[in-house]
Amino acid sequence: MKLLDKLFKPDLTLDKITDFDASKYKELGYKAILLDLDNTLAPYYVKSIDQKAIEVIESLKNTGFKVLVFSNNSPQRVGNYLKTTDYEYLCYALKPLPFGYLRAKKKLDVELKDCISMGDQLLTDVLGAKRMKVFSVYVKPLVDKDSWSTKINRFLERKIFKRLGQ
Ligand SMILES: [Mg+2]
Repeated sequence: MKLLDKLFKPDLTLDKITDFDASKYKELGYKAILLDLDNTLAPYYVKSIDQKAIEVIESLKNTGFKVLVFSNNSPQRVGNYLKTTDYEYLCYALKPLPFGYLRAKKKLDVELKDCISMGDQLLTDVLGAKRMKVFSVYVKPLVDKDSWSTKINRFLERKIFKRLGQ
């Protein structure tokens, strides 16, 4: 396998998060979802969770998945976004580094090979998941608008996508 594929090629690509066939992956034996927040569950400027995002999480939970909102963003951002819910989250995940994944594994009491990562960025969500042998789902970004730090990643991402032939 080419190095670039090994590092960045998602196991599954979706146009939108609601296209995910949760039952199928539950049947395959997966147990938990590590769900990115910004531009996956909601645009970064949306301050608190809305009904649509609640439905996404509820439907995953109803299928039998443990769900963890898994974000590189701060406790303020993630905590505020989820404050009307009791959903579990992990902030400062430091994706693509291993630390957050190890914390998530502990928190959810699951093996990483039984986890599915969902996120909108190759350089954090996909790269991190692939390194940790987590099934990686790349979900196209919800909106074109990104925070300044993400803009740099997007620039690199476009180059990687070109090389991946996607
Ligand atoms: Mg994101």
